[in-house]
Amino acid sequence: MSSLNSENILSALRAVRDPDLNRDIVALNFVKDIKIDGKNVSFSIELTTPACPVKDQMKAQAELVVKQSIPEIEKLTVTMTASVSKRANMQVTPVLTGVKNTIAVASGKGGVGKSTVAVNLAVALAKEGASVGLIDCDIYGPSIPLMFNINEKPGMHNQKLLPLEKYGVKVMSIGFLIDATQAVIWRGPMASGAVKQFMTDVEWGELDYLVFDLPPGTGDIQLTIVQQIPLTGAVIVTTPQEMSLADARRGMAMFQKVSVPILGVVENMSYFVSANGERENIFDNGGGKIVAEQFKVPFLGEIPIYTKIRIGGDTGRPITDSEPLSEPAKIFSNIAKNLAAQISISNYSKQAAPIEISLGNNNQ
Ligand code: ADP
Repeated sequence: MSSLNSENILSALRAVRDPDLNRDIVALNFVKDIKIDGKNVSFSIELTTPACPVKDQMKAQAELVVKQSIPEIEKLTVTMTASVSKRANMQVTPVLTGVKNTIAVASGKGGVGKSTVAVNLAVALAKEGASVGLIDCDIYGPSIPLMFNINEKPGMHNQKLLPLEKYGVKVMSIGFLIDATQAVIWRGPMASGAVKQFMTDVEWGELDYLVFDLPPGTGDIQLTIVQQIPLTGAVIVTTPQEMSLADARRGMAMFQKVSVPILGVVENMSYFVSANGERENIFDNGGGKIVAEQFKVPFLGEIPIYTKIRIGGDTGRPITDSEPLSEPAKIFSNIAKNLAAQISISNYSKQAAPIEISLGNNNQ
């Protein structure tokens, strides 16, 4: 009797596990659209993010186990798709209802590269196929217009502001609306009011990830802003030296106080590679990993000091767009994937375990 049927395909695929969610892809209901046409088989694997760090491995493993257990298959086509999982607090706080996940990028102090990281992570997620937005919450010193080289003013539709789109990311900043020199005179409540309006009065549409570039620091303004955003979680950016780590710890404590999950720590300016390939730890190295361990949160990765990262910021074209195959761009891309994986884990742990699909339902 032929072993080529949906039951056997699914049973073979039970050997493929999602390492982040720690279950097999059949139990997770990731396998869709099994089609059997003679000796040709196709199916898709629907992940919880297009920026999955192990997408290629999972595809290769799925092909291998199915071919091994059903040798009579002549042609096997596995398509990787994604449907991004949603944050758990969507029903509780009906704001940004088209936005599946909201990520705050924060730092204990200024100058550590928080905005640079926020911009490059947003662009990297978009490059993986996710729909992404970015809100510049730094009302006092908006740097996002410069970092995206956007000089236009946003349009309006149905009494809502339309975000400006560049490098695949929808962007909103106070810098688009008012003269940058005016921004410094904003008072605290006005600043948090502006961020609130960016959530309610901007037409974001459907987004997988909306990144909030927070103002640096851990004061009242940051706390007020953080409390009004229904956050999936926060990313803490730090540089490796002790001076910066103390501020990073304060930043993490702030998020813990308001029960916002910390999705991970990014260490920026971790090292410098000289022209002859020598690595120098200008600001020390490894501190980000240590604070992540202290707080029992994931360490998402380390970014080198690299001139083209700075040039990308100054010229308004992030390195993840201008040189996506360069080493620093790949590092941003890996950190974005690690972040996406942490978001999937966080969302998965907050929802009930998925119901196992009935094997019979997939017979085509
Ligand atoms: P923050 O948002 O923390 O105040 P920025 O993102 O504005 O910091 O970065 C401060 C400066 O450092 C900018 O000129 C930026 O281009 C530069 N910079 C940030 N990260 C790097 C890096 N990894 N390599 C080189 N320059 C960097």
